[in-house]
Amino acid sequence: PVIPIAAAVRTTCPYCGVGCGIKATPMENGALIEGDPEHMASRGRLCVKGSALGETLGLDGRLLAPAIREHDKLRTLRTSSWDEALDTVASRFASIIAEHGPDAVALYVSGQLLTEDYYVANKFMKGYVGSANIDTNSRLCMSSAVAGHKRAFGEDLVPGCYEDFELAELVVLVGSNTAWCHPTLFQRITKAKEARPGLRIVAIDPRRTATCELADLHLPVKAGTDVWLFNGLLSYLARSGAADDAFVAAHTAGLDAALAEADGCASIEFVARTCGVDPRLLLEFYEMFAATGRVVTAFSQGVNQSSSGTDKVNSIINCHLLTGRIGKPGMGPFSLTGQPNAMGGREVGGLANMLAGHLDLDKPAHREAVRSFWDAPRMASKPGLKAVDLFRAIEEGKVKAVWIMATNPVVSLPDADQVKRALARCELVVVSDVTANTDTAAFAHVLLPALGWGEKDGTVTNSERCISRQRAFLPAPGEARADWQAICQVARRMGYQGFDYAGAHAIFDEHARLSTWRNGEPGLERAFRLDGLVGMERAAYDALAPLQWPVRHERESTPRLFADGRFAHPDGKARFIATAPRAPVHAPGGEFPLVLNTGRLRDQWHTMTRTGKSPRLAGHAPEPFIDLHPHDALTSGVRDGELARITSRWGAMVARVAHSGGIARGAAFVPIHWNGQTASDARVGAVVNPEVDPVSGEPEFKHTPIRVEPF
Ligand code: SF4
Repeated sequence: PVIPIAAAVRTTCPYCGVGCGIKATPMENGALIEGDPEHMASRGRLCVKGSALGETLGLDGRLLAPAIREHDKLRTLRTSSWDEALDTVASRFASIIAEHGPDAVALYVSGQLLTEDYYVANKFMKGYVGSANIDTNSRLCMSSAVAGHKRAFGEDLVPGCYEDFELAELVVLVGSNTAWCHPTLFQRITKAKEARPGLRIVAIDPRRTATCELADLHLPVKAGTDVWLFNGLLSYLARSGAADDAFVAAHTAGLDAALAEADGCASIEFVARTCGVDPRLLLEFYEMFAATGRVVTAFSQGVNQSSSGTDKVNSIINCHLLTGRIGKPGMGPFSLTGQPNAMGGREVGGLANMLAGHLDLDKPAHREAVRSFWDAPRMASKPGLKAVDLFRAIEEGKVKAVWIMATNPVVSLPDADQVKRALARCELVVVSDVTANTDTAAFAHVLLPALGWGEKDGTVTNSERCISRQRAFLPAPGEARADWQAICQVARRMGYQGFDYAGAHAIFDEHARLSTWRNGEPGLERAFRLDGLVGMERAAYDALAPLQWPVRHERESTPRLFADGRFAHPDGKARFIATAPRAPVHAPGGEFPLVLNTGRLRDQWHTMTRTGKSPRLAGHAPEPFIDLHPHDALTSGVRDGELARITSRWGAMVARVAHSGGIARGAAFVPIHWNGQTASDARVGAVVNPEVDPVSGEPEFKHTPIRVEPF
């Protein structure tokens, strides 16, 4: 019998943006993982990844002590003390800043960090180093949603909550394999449909995914054509009398320009042809949307990861503004974030173009507000480099030191071989991670062991603005430390004041206080505020139950925003955005006739450093594959089950050919998870093109021209 050795601890799953609650009971040999019935995001549900967390807790492959790479020929990595490692990082950062200025150093962080780690990392860079060169892997995931929210609402605000999916009469899932990527939310939608068969589901996705099994209607649009589709919907809604004229007049601005742009998509036949869908199905969707009051349109990476991602987001929001379907139960646009703390990172300004507390780096009054709150000696004065540009600047030698935390860019960034070249020539690469041997760690000059899930302590915010605690239930292994501690220790060595925290609770308190700092003064108003969480002592922080921001009063949770029709632009009105459709940057043809789409599998997470430890999870898809239409396999000379080489202008990889039956002719799908640690380097990032959205900087992961050949 397995014996519990301590009481169950309530915590939050470290994987997707649903943010399910977990009860973890420490056992003699690991932990028993169960769903937490009291957590508002999941009500006891867990998906297969969450329930397998207990199998991933062993110390195999863990980085347990700091290490420094010698300058000898073999680039030997030797174990060091924390003091030596921290001294090295601090002194090298300080000397590079002194010689080349603050923009010569950078941090590249992660939606895996807890809010407290993220907060301290941003304060360190933007307030003390004096550079905004801190970006995050969330740039690859939801930065288009952030930019779209800011344009439409005046602030990065998600209007609704998960309950809206259950209250809706129509759920539209755009560019989202919700069944695999946000599984317990999909379970809630499934249950709602079982209870109320009148609830209709529309899936808009180039692939026929597991999500489509539940859908009443699947629109298999051509990759990259979403703006045509939603401009067409906007035009249809206006023509069919579905507009809420009173709402539009009282609470919005900019409709005329948006409608003028959408007018180019007034023809159903034209939009259907452009999007590659049956015009009857397209009209069915438009009619369904127009006739239904309670509509939730949820979108994810299929929308965000595009060179027109921000416009795609706004073209969706436009349709909700026109019909007034926002801020009320069962309706609204909804961004499904990929990572456990993508939203928490946004709260603390975890992107190179943002500031903490939902303030903006490009507004002098906002910079001054944060500077005065931090009493910061060197405030960043301009936005920093976004992820793809950051690694270009490293390769060009403009950025000479980078500290990478909790992410594996040699696998996950587009044009990933460029990232290798960049790190190979970087003067100082510091990597904080839980795993010793990652593709990125291979380039580290200094390796710092971080606490992992179950060991670290802090908060995360999920897709519905729910702040919940991740709590430690395991002892810190080896010499691992929290990331915020490592940053504070480097900051203090560099002579920076303001990095003496008594614990994660003290960081959270500072974060909460910043959200209220001068909030309400002209030009400094923002909806994100945590008044009700200011002043929490350690015990209150430890006991914090999940709740949704804004938190104006103690224990107050806010499920929905904009119920009063007031948005965050200074005039209180939401903005329609005129979205001009444009094709993905690189068209297929010639040498590269197929379009590569990348995404997640049901049972894996990111670059598999954690889920790869579970044999149960590996059983779902044991090796990298490329999903091809049989016709394209035939013309490429490859057969189902055989190995194939996949080549783009940027790089190549090898994977096994598979036919799922869900892929259209001319398209291909490869999962993102496999890394370069396998016999044949299977990093799909090496193949993906590095084009980005000009507004958000989010890369075009869903559209890379490739060719496929026998291996
Ligand atoms: Fe974790 Fe997401 Fe699964 Fe919930 S749905 S258990 S948050 S991976």
